[in-house]
Amino acid sequence: MDTTIERIDRHPIEVPYRPVTERNMDRELPHWRYLEILEVELADGSVGYGETLLFYTWGETTDEDVERAHGERATSIMWDDSLGAGLQIALFDAVGKAVGCPITDLLGGRVHDETPVSWWCIDMPGEDWVTEARRARELGYRNIKLKARPWFDLDAQLEALDDALPASFAVDLDYNGTLLDAERGLPHLESIVEYPQVTHIEGPIPQEDVEGNASITEALDVPVALHYGRPEPITALCETMCDGFVVSGGASQLRDTAAVASMAEKPFWLQLVGTGITAAFALHCGGAFKQATWPAITCREIYEHELLEERIEVEDGYAEVPTDPGLGYEVDMDAVERFRCEKPEEQPNPPRLIEANWPEGPTIYFAENETNFMITYAREEGMPYFAAGAHTWLVPDDGSDRWEELHEGAREEPVVHDEPVF
Ligand SMILES: [Mg+2]
Repeated sequence: MDTTIERIDRHPIEVPYRPVTERNMDRELPHWRYLEILEVELADGSVGYGETLLFYTWGETTDEDVERAHGERATSIMWDDSLGAGLQIALFDAVGKAVGCPITDLLGGRVHDETPVSWWCIDMPGEDWVTEARRARELGYRNIKLKARPWFDLDAQLEALDDALPASFAVDLDYNGTLLDAERGLPHLESIVEYPQVTHIEGPIPQEDVEGNASITEALDVPVALHYGRPEPITALCETMCDGFVVSGGASQLRDTAAVASMAEKPFWLQLVGTGITAAFALHCGGAFKQATWPAITCREIYEHELLEERIEVEDGYAEVPTDPGLGYEVDMDAVERFRCEKPEEQPNPPRLIEANWPEGPTIYFAENETNFMITYAREEGMPYFAAGAHTWLVPDDGSDRWEELHEGAREEPVVHDEPVF
């Protein structure tokens, strides 16, 4: 069998968000719409597909990557993470098809027949989380991962979920460090984990805070997850900074991480972000890595279409690890064609104005600055600390002078008022 790479095609696409996710993603992550599908053909005629989320990926496939892969043997370069997500997944898919085995086999062999999967949501008003969680439950999920943020009323959000969901439906909360330190974070967390749904706490305070994370992990009965690699895994393990990890990266990195997690007997969840194509790859990783026992995040449900001809079904929180060759799912090239776009040269960053307000004040206006601008501001202690009544929304551009002025000001730095202007 000849696995020489003969053809590599790239298809840039813009995939619409579903309505609930759209109105919330547009606040902070409008650029997750843009993906690139990689299509690779080997000398034996096998065709493989992969994808890169262009502006949120562990590795983009560049022109140079495509050039150097051309004419190489797929089997000899597919473990090279520097080829980027799209090309690497496509090579695994193509090689699996050429050999007639699922990607799980190429990753070291099947140890799980099914793998737990989670539904992902950005921070949203409680009623939107409820809508999403209900949909997740209907579609077979038993776990949802949510962004806990000081600019929403987390108690009210969790109250709403508690009213709408059985206690067995698991909620994971990712703070991305916004609890700032263990001294303030612990009392907050101790009340939050009283909600029966709260099952994992991720990144409560900045990951560099070794002592703080260790004390939170020791104090809470609910497991704490940290992103693997920050700080050095040996520190995270020896200091017991967490109960398990959030794991991302290319195939080699995943393999190495899985080996460490296995040695340390720490569970992890995979976080490979994209549509159904990436999700299918993640299922194989879940099938091959013993410690991948926490529900994997792929974010595939934020999109209107998952780019597969057949949906990845979830039952009672689990998806089957595919047994067909390659990814085990056919990519829907009609859909890819429908979503085709010009590849953006840089991250699209449409003008926008965001209002965050608290009943006792202040009201803060943000504009599209660097990615994670609101997290940065929270970490600089610019806003109330998980206070009741917080609400945040995207203020539509009504063409008024006040929108224009506020937006212009917020482009410089967040604009603080005593009360809402809108
Ligand atoms: Mg995270």
